[in-house]
Amino acid sequence: MSSIEAARRYFEAAADQLELSASVRTLLLTPQREVKVQIAVPRDNGEVTTFVGYRVQHDRSRGPFKGGLRYHPEVDGDEVTTLAQLMTWKTAVVDLPYGGAKGGIGVDPKQLSTAELERVTRCFIDQIHEMIGPNLDIPAPDMGTNAQVMAWAVNQYEKYHGFSPAVITGKPLELHGSAGREEATGRGVGIITRSTCAALGKTVAGSRIALQGFGNVGLHTASFLSGLGARILAVSDVTGGVWNADGLDIAALVSWLKQNGTLAGFPGSSPLTNAGLLTADVDVLIPAALGGVLTPEIARHVRAKIVIEAANAPTLPEADEVLQHRGVVVLPDILANAGGVTVSYFEWVQNLQQFRWDLVRIREELERVLVRAFDNVWGLAQSKHVSLRTAAYMIGIGRVARATQLAGF
Ligand code: GLU
Repeated sequence: MSSIEAARRYFEAAADQLELSASVRTLLLTPQREVKVQIAVPRDNGEVTTFVGYRVQHDRSRGPFKGGLRYHPEVDGDEVTTLAQLMTWKTAVVDLPYGGAKGGIGVDPKQLSTAELERVTRCFIDQIHEMIGPNLDIPAPDMGTNAQVMAWAVNQYEKYHGFSPAVITGKPLELHGSAGREEATGRGVGIITRSTCAALGKTVAGSRIALQGFGNVGLHTASFLSGLGARILAVSDVTGGVWNADGLDIAALVSWLKQNGTLAGFPGSSPLTNAGLLTADVDVLIPAALGGVLTPEIARHVRAKIVIEAANAPTLPEADEVLQHRGVVVLPDILANAGGVTVSYFEWVQNLQQFRWDLVRIREELERVLVRAFDNVWGLAQSKHVSLRTAAYMIGIGRVARATQLAGF
């Protein structure tokens, strides 16, 4: 099943509940604009390599297009289109005044030197600068990109359009970025995990957690949750995983990874495969890496009672059915990982107002936005007897549908 078909299944379940007509469904699913560009850049050795870049603007009925730029070898048009649609429902479910977009390049950033990465980024912006803008479409980091990439991107944009920090979020602090943006997605995952435990009559403190992915999102999720007293038993990344039945020391694991470039061999841990991590004996499973990792086969063996989707689209629809059938509570990506785009919104507001917020304020506002969104989704799921995913989609899609209809054609 392609990622587009998978996203469609989730969309249709919510659209059925909302009793949307076929014409409204088609209108909501069809992206406004999809662009595919050539990125031809000289390598350090003088040869030219050509990559393909994408920007898909899915919907802007509730505000400017918003969504990250992903650099990964598996990026293709279908994936970017799916992720753009997810951004539309994500910004709507947490009620940010944005639509949804996504972009990316089919490239492995680890294979590029810093100078090559900069050239690729500048060339990409050369190709798309006319379709982005502070009130039009606002990119941000995603998998394979970071604050440095955003710094080059905004600098390249400003060569055409002058000073415009609000065109991109997730920038370095020194270049009009926001306090708390880097930690935001992981912190948001932690806030949603805490709310989920509380709603189920449990506490985060003492709960046993397995986390797939130890990039920016995974790392901040682990730090936040272990700060609340949770025990992180298992962590993995592309190089494999580590396990400690009493809980891993996250601060020590972070320095180990920095020094050694791999989780493997972390003192006091035993090795664990990625499949082993997904089916580990824990209370909470947090996939925070690639999409599509929870297949029906793995879902049958998941032992956690709660799955928090920190990654975008980690659960295939058949696997989602298996998990539901087995009574596993799944917190959908569009809510669980919305902390990143929420603090992106705070960054954008600060840039437009040319006024800075401190970290305390950012954290308070993030908490307020996410807890309110969680309560809405949880309440709707209870009252309509639907899954949390369907409830989250119903709220997101419902808001987009109403805005579209109110604006008229
Ligand atoms: N890439 C992140 C996401 O998937 C953040 C997007 C943003 O901040 O605009 O939600």
